[in-house]
Amino acid sequence: MTIWNLGSINADFVYSVPHIPVPGETLASTGRAVFLGGKGANMSVAAARAAARVAHIGAVGADGLWAVERLMEYGVDTRHIAEIDVETAQAIIAVDANGENSIILHQGANVQIPVNVLEQALNRAETGDTLVFQNETNLQLQAAELAVTMGLRVAYAAAPFDADAVMAVMAHLDFLILNEVEAEQLKDATGKGPQDIPVKDVIVTLGANGATWFGADGPVDVPAHKVTPVDTTGAGDTFTGYVLACLDRGQPMLQAMQTASKAAAIMVTRRGTADVIPDLADVQSFSG
Ligand code: ATP
Repeated sequence: MTIWNLGSINADFVYSVPHIPVPGETLASTGRAVFLGGKGANMSVAAARAAARVAHIGAVGADGLWAVERLMEYGVDTRHIAEIDVETAQAIIAVDANGENSIILHQGANVQIPVNVLEQALNRAETGDTLVFQNETNLQLQAAELAVTMGLRVAYAAAPFDADAVMAVMAHLDFLILNEVEAEQLKDATGKGPQDIPVKDVIVTLGANGATWFGADGPVDVPAHKVTPVDTTGAGDTFTGYVLACLDRGQPMLQAMQTASKAAAIMVTRRGTADVIPDLADVQSFSG
């Protein structure tokens, strides 16, 4: 089966700085690196590294063709990423010597994905495929509605969190994944905890404390592996990509989460995001 990921593609410009600039200050950086980023791209890479067939649905400008190339190298089907006349999304990330950061996000092409790109992609989908999306693109509701009519499993990773965005698509979801803070925010907005949300499978990730699955049989906890974290960025995206890839292969949820927990544990021991997401061979040989 195929995982169709309506997702963001960012160019992450990471500048090393002596300190985070204060208002009015001009500061020379001491280093600069450019990475593939965006929750969508991370999840596509994670699911592809977990050996799933993944088709990314999105958009970049002419300045983002390298990012599409990179996704292709990681095994993602990039035929439904449109090149449009809008600049590619950018994150300008300043990181100081203590690892403190500040980020300016320009959403660019991520929020201008043409509707015909979505329609053409999902027209190729088959019953039993999965649609996943996050809250970093346009067309979320259209995608969910279309996917439901086509018999797809609909999964939402509710980040960056916006209660209205979750509530707009909730009725169409089979699967919702949130971190602990997002689950609290959803409870504040709806009065409902993860066990009361009308979605078949809800996962709440708890960082170093693992993750809990709220399914038909009540809550099931999956512990995290004990590792020494050096960079937790992308742990959630790796976890989600792996869970979806394992479910797509027909594995039960518990097994999918156990595999995802290993992948995410490896991920937190590595610096970086999409470029360092572990593959299935790394996960299978992990003994943590
Ligand atoms: P991020 O936004 O940093 O990508 P998140 O907030 O979406 O992450 P988390 O709940 O922090 O997601 O982590 C997702 C999963 O990654 C956890 O359920 C766990 O399996 C794994 N994980 C995260 N932090 C650690 C850690 N310190 N040690 C081991 N595993 C971890």
